[in-house]
Amino acid sequence: MSMQFQRICIFNLSFHCKFIEGHIIVGQGQALSFLTFTPMNYRRLGKSGLQLSELSLGSWITFGNQIGNEVSEKLMDIAYDAGINFFDNAEVYAAGKSEEVMGDILRKKGWARDTFTVSSKVFWGAGGKMPTQRGLHRKHIVEACEAGMKRLQVDYLDLYFCHRPDKNTPIEETVWSMHNLILQGKVLYWGTSEWSAQEIMEAHMVAQRYNLIGPTMEQPQYNMLVRQKVEVEFSQIYKTVGLGTTIWSPLASGVLSGKYNSGSAEDFRLKRTELNWLAETLLTDENISKLKKLGDLASDLSMTMAQLGVAWCLKNPNVSTVILGASKVEQLKENLQAAEMLDLLTDEVMLKIDEILDNKPIHPAY
Ligand code: NDP
Repeated sequence: MSMQFQRICIFNLSFHCKFIEGHIIVGQGQALSFLTFTPMNYRRLGKSGLQLSELSLGSWITFGNQIGNEVSEKLMDIAYDAGINFFDNAEVYAAGKSEEVMGDILRKKGWARDTFTVSSKVFWGAGGKMPTQRGLHRKHIVEACEAGMKRLQVDYLDLYFCHRPDKNTPIEETVWSMHNLILQGKVLYWGTSEWSAQEIMEAHMVAQRYNLIGPTMEQPQYNMLVRQKVEVEFSQIYKTVGLGTTIWSPLASGVLSGKYNSGSAEDFRLKRTELNWLAETLLTDENISKLKKLGDLASDLSMTMAQLGVAWCLKNPNVSTVILGASKVEQLKENLQAAEMLDLLTDEVMLKIDEILDNKPIHPAY
């Protein structure tokens, strides 16, 4: 049985579907072809009305850097045909090249602008080292937004993230700058990335004080190995300000696919010298031992470890979208199937996973 992702047209309605192809043997051995499909699920971005596909596609390390442009194009094609409506990017990715590559693909595809959302992020700059070229002060936010739109070849950014908190800029200046971009129609929703709950709430306090539009979403790391912020720190502000989350590194840079378990990995992300620091943090004996146990569990469930890792993230209802990364078409196809496997992650299985990981964050008693 093979699976492919296609857009179909039934009664003039266009659907984004995941097809499963197969054959039913009937009567005297004639084979009848059949197709079943699972539509992509869409989740609200926090309390906003915007609905993002529960799986989305990001470009860190890959676009304009590790992979060729034709692979990037294939990845976006597969994603879009599977119903993905959010493509994640940032000024700093490949020093602006990632946005250029994505922009060229978006122009070439000519997809209707109201069928997808695209993001950029501001903070580190696109290669410039001057203090005016980075940070969350008004000058850089305004200039980075213009530059991002130009590279992505769009008239507005659907989502615009403050990539990290900026300790050198008053929060009022950042909130006012983002608010003004929204009023100018250059940004639709603004948010944060790797901000603490306290910093996010400070932004909301400023927004309330001056009647401005506050941050809609946060982009935190979330995966089986990194859980504290998403599961505990933000737990109140999902309810109060209605925070949405677009989570990154669902497979901890590929480690949760199990490919590093044998130690023979070759052209994988964590073999890149600039990511030695990340390899040192992730590829510990303790993690590898947990990963091997997760591998056994995944094969008992007839899923791959990557699918288990992505499905586990999707089980959290406070996750608005899981941003997938892929250096190969096969990886994306494999990971997209995770959405159909959520039922396999029963309470019992989730408990077993927690036992293996032994890292369930503890909520404060009061
Ligand atoms: P993952 O943790 O899923 O890592 C993706 C990488 O893992 C791939 O490029 C590939 O690397 C490997 N991989 C993925 N699927 C498989 C598979 N099935 N089998 C084997 N290997 C696999 O996500 P990312 O770290 O890429 O994060 C996703 C997105 O989140 C980014 O593209 C970016 O948009 C965003 N992000 C945001 C950050 C922020 O600070 N806001 C920080 C980081 C990411 P390889 O083949 O090279 O080993």
